[in-house]
Amino acid sequence: MMRLPWFGFRSPTTVAEAAKILAAEGPQAMLIAGGTDLLPNMKRRHQTPAMLVSLARIETLKRIANGSGTTLGAGLTLNEIVAIPAVREKYAGLWQAAAQVATVHLRNMGTLGGNLCLDTRCNYYNQNYEWRKAIDFCLKKDGDICWVATASKRCVATSSTDCAPALISLGASVRLVSARGEREVAIAELYKNDGIDYLARRPDEVLTEVKLPSLAGWKSSYWKLRRRGAFDFPVLGVAAAVRTARDGTVEEARIALGAVASRPFLTKGGELLACRKLSDEAIAEAGVKVASAAKPMDNTDLDLYWRKAVVAEFVGYALREIRGDDMSATRLRIARHPL
Ligand SMILES: Cc1cc2nc3c(=O)[nH]c(=O)nc-3n(C[C@H](O)[C@H](O)[C@H](O)COP(=O)(O)OP(=O)(O)OC[C@H]3O[C@@H](n4cnc5c(N)ncnc54)[C@H](O)[C@@H]3O)c2cc1C
Ligand code: SF4
Repeated sequence: MMRLPWFGFRSPTTVAEAAKILAAEGPQAMLIAGGTDLLPNMKRRHQTPAMLVSLARIETLKRIANGSGTTLGAGLTLNEIVAIPAVREKYAGLWQAAAQVATVHLRNMGTLGGNLCLDTRCNYYNQNYEWRKAIDFCLKKDGDICWVATASKRCVATSSTDCAPALISLGASVRLVSARGEREVAIAELYKNDGIDYLARRPDEVLTEVKLPSLAGWKSSYWKLRRRGAFDFPVLGVAAAVRTARDGTVEEARIALGAVASRPFLTKGGELLACRKLSDEAIAEAGVKVASAAKPMDNTDLDLYWRKAVVAEFVGYALREIRGDDMSATRLRIARHPL
């Protein structure tokens, strides 16, 4: 049995108090929300913070505000996000992403903020301490070589958050608060393509909320590839959001990818769709463009060449769903037999 290391525990009731503790404790402290990512990581000694600062008692992190857009507190659990009617109606891509994270139990604990700050993943890293020691560790933790790309000086672990690509396609931003002040960052700018230093968030900052713009006239969709439809992390996530004119001509489109790099990112595929109808031909072209940006590595589940090969198909699923095609049979097939 893997045991947690010893740690101190603080449980503030305000964001200001949490930020003050982070500032005072320095890098030895880490925030914990639902703990569904951090606690298993601590058991494997990936992270060994001397102090955990829990966000669970901060009521303001559960705030939901509907105005011109929608603001979601970072402390809302994924099941709470899924239960918000405005999310389902206006931000279908986020709803679909949140609803497909892990299992229902993990979504009861796991929060939106924790999902966005999720550690990157790799087959050589998500192992217990003894396993990692047996291969002399790796760059990301305790070692000095990357076993996936041995000539690389950079860790190429995979970003595995489902909600981030959906939120990037929706043009969302986050609020980061520290004892030094606060700032708003577009979610597309929150991530760095580095498996170790993967967040632009500073260690003393609390991610307090996600702001979604008003998206009148937009439709969105999220499609996820994973081995077991009811359980696994994504090995590919495709998020699309499209605004069309009344005659169906695309005015603006954004397509983001997840789980094929160390960060989720916006592709140029959406630009190809501007001023065109969502015809089969336009969708296929966008799919090829998006697939060319996917750089999956051999460090997670399923064959990397196959994961790249199916990107265009998944882009097609997302765009056809936005077009209004009935994709329910395809969704069911992928949830049951993705391979
Ligand atoms: C079996 C299993 C399957 C999973 N499958 C998926 C999946 O399919 N898709 C997916 O996306 N995730 C998956 N996860 C990961 C995880 O459950 C979710 O991402 C969850 O939303 C994480 O949220 P949390 O609140 O539990 O985060 P925590 O574990 O509490 O925190 C995760 C990280 O975020 C930081 N953090 C948390 N909240 C904040 C905040 N407000 N501000 C700043 N930093 C913060 C923590 O310090 C930590 O570094 C899976 C986990 C398990 C164990
Ligand atoms: S990508 Fe390389 S350095 Fe990063 S976790 Fe995997 S083996 Fe380690």
